[in-house]
Amino acid sequence: MIEIKELRKNFGHNKVLKGINIKVDQGEIVSILGPSGSGKTTLLRCINYLESPDGGTITIDDISINTGKVNKKEINNLRKKTAMVFQSYNLFQHKTALQNVMEGLIVVQKRDVKEAKEIALEVLQKVGLKNKIDSYPSQLSGGQQQRVGIARALALNPDVILFDEPTSALDPELVGEVLDVIAKIAKDGKTMIIVTHEMNFAREISDKIIFMDNGVVVEEGTPKDIFVEQKEERTRQFLKRMT
Ligand code: ATP
Repeated sequence: MIEIKELRKNFGHNKVLKGINIKVDQGEIVSILGPSGSGKTTLLRCINYLESPDGGTITIDDISINTGKVNKKEINNLRKKTAMVFQSYNLFQHKTALQNVMEGLIVVQKRDVKEAKEIALEVLQKVGLKNKIDSYPSQLSGGQQQRVGIARALALNPDVILFDEPTSALDPELVGEVLDVIAKIAKDGKTMIIVTHEMNFAREISDKIIFMDNGVVVEEGTPKDIFVEQKEERTRQFLKRMT
């Protein structure tokens, strides 16, 4: 279970997160929607401390962090519970698909090479890249690179996978293959938080939708609550623009 309480983040005078409260149950798929600049990516990056929050608490299962006083060990423990899929893939360019997926297993999880390779091959097969394991990122399409990124996250078997706009850098014809892979993983019961601008996808895949604007959660609920029976005018206006 993930629980975020009163999370705050400022960049200088810019108050980007103004006290965010979120709960995500195990196995739940939660999509975060909202206009550009509303703080979605910052929220995701604060959850695994890629950005340091200025206040609030973050709980993932048995780890609870009061962001006011943390130490490095606590941050590392929190990070081990999450894996992030980035908008721009963030693959090592000088490593093959297989090596990219093995890296975290060996360096972070201290697994031996044989075991890391077995896990990596399994997840690369899952994302449909068994025939590309020896390719370097430059030899792969954007969609294939992102699928390596997803395989890398999945390999770590984290409590939660955080997706930061996983398809927004892709050419439109490549978006479908990545969304299909995410949907497949979702069916396996993995907890996921997905920041996305893909409205139809969010509506189909999510157990819960969170709508953010201007650093606050405006409204949350089931896809039906948000897409059909939204209560807030801000949500209505946003959806009108996006769909
Ligand atoms: P988008 O949908 O366009 O990605 P978003 O909702 O994910 O937007 P964020 O990327 O979280 O929004 O940005 C929220 C605000 O925080 C913006 O005003 C942005 O300029 C600011 N911001 C984000 N990262 C930084 C940073 N590293 N330094 C300074 N300001 C930042």
